[in-house]
Amino acid sequence: MPLHPSSLEEASRRATAYLESLDTREVAPDARLLAALGGDLPAGPTDPRAVIALLDEAGSPATVANAGGRYFGFVNGGALPASLAATWLASAWNQNAALRVMSPVAATLEELALEWARDLLGLPAGCGGALTTGATMANLSGLAAARHQLLSRAGWDADADGLFGAPPLQVVVGDEVHISLLKALGLLGLGRRRVVRVPTDAQGRLRADSLPQFDARTIVCLQAGNVNTGAFDPAREVCRQAHDAGAWVHVDGAFGLWAAASPRYRHLASDFAEADSWATDGHKWPNTGYDCGLAFVRDAGAMRAAMSITAAYLAIGEQREPLHYSPEMSRRARGAELWAGLRSLGRNGVADLIDRTCGYARRFAAGLRAAGHQVLNDVVINQVLVSFGSPGKTRAVIQRIQQEGVCWCGGTEWQGHTAMRISVSSWATTESDVDASLAAILRAAG
Ligand SMILES: *Cc1c(COP(=O)(O)O)cnc(C)c1O
Repeated sequence: MPLHPSSLEEASRRATAYLESLDTREVAPDARLLAALGGDLPAGPTDPRAVIALLDEAGSPATVANAGGRYFGFVNGGALPASLAATWLASAWNQNAALRVMSPVAATLEELALEWARDLLGLPAGCGGALTTGATMANLSGLAAARHQLLSRAGWDADADGLFGAPPLQVVVGDEVHISLLKALGLLGLGRRRVVRVPTDAQGRLRADSLPQFDARTIVCLQAGNVNTGAFDPAREVCRQAHDAGAWVHVDGAFGLWAAASPRYRHLASDFAEADSWATDGHKWPNTGYDCGLAFVRDAGAMRAAMSITAAYLAIGEQREPLHYSPEMSRRARGAELWAGLRSLGRNGVADLIDRTCGYARRFAAGLRAAGHQVLNDVVINQVLVSFGSPGKTRAVIQRIQQEGVCWCGGTEWQGHTAMRISVSSWATTESDVDASLAAILRAAG
């Protein structure tokens, strides 16, 4: 007897109808039916098809339509068709990606996808790599390798002995460091507050002329793509100074690092290849769908030293074992959607995704400026910050946009300005999506 055909068919039919509704449905969620998901847990069983029907009927309206082309919030990507379909298939496989013996296909997809991504990002061959839930855990992974390596050079085994009594490490960040990187530092015992903050310039770039003294116990954190402006820190100068002093450079490139995959934008990101570790996301610009982060470390041994585990019952082979590089052990096979997305786009398709979304960001900026609104940032990649006058006015425009539902943009506070942030991150966005959204924004501001 087949195991689940009718519930899978039900899910497939409903998922397809959902995706087809994206063109016309409002981007903003309608959460009014969510109560139907609750109540007491029934004592007896429910048919899986009925469970899926309930999930769709009560749950789908309360989704934010970021799978469509008119969602511009939070640097959220969409999901490429091949990635989404691969996730379905891989979910049916139900593989555990911890070890090769648990899933040869998961281990292989992860290795292949990491290698393609490393190449697209222009990072050095031979890096250690890991797939994580997102850039937060990818930052944690790179910083854990940094912590291990710098303290090990100072004669201290942080992974075995912890940080109590260890020689102190200096951690340097730009003043516009992403909050998730601070969180990773906190989790690693390096502290959210004890960082040295370097002032930033008018685009949010760390100022290379205001760096503290680096030494061999310094971790410098650079940003490839400021979450507000998309700006890139001056990597060449910082890497040179850091490496002269024996310091480690970690890059938070959650979305911006993917500029390296486009010949047109590569110059913005190429200097970051000089660093020692990198964190980025699959679920932002590459549109793998949720969730997927990538961590790379130049010295694969440092990553392995920070992450590897061994135990008598684990069969460890000669080949790369995912759990030696990842903060997690049992994991889903998220290599499937990254592999499938990159395989379906090809090298030129990834470059085109970067170029197209950057072009749409410039189209937004030009339309907003032409209507007399103030674009606050240099639109170097896919991020646009716009003010509509006073903070109150800007907030009112954002609220109107979110309620009206043609598109969705969030708000931010940046260098003393209240702004609306438009992040063009989805493969699904078209020129007519941009024009319809721009018209809605101008109406809301009018
Ligand atoms: C989104 C983002 C992060 C966090 O990534 P998650 O995938 O949400 O963990 C870190 N840094 C920057 C610059 C980001 O844009």
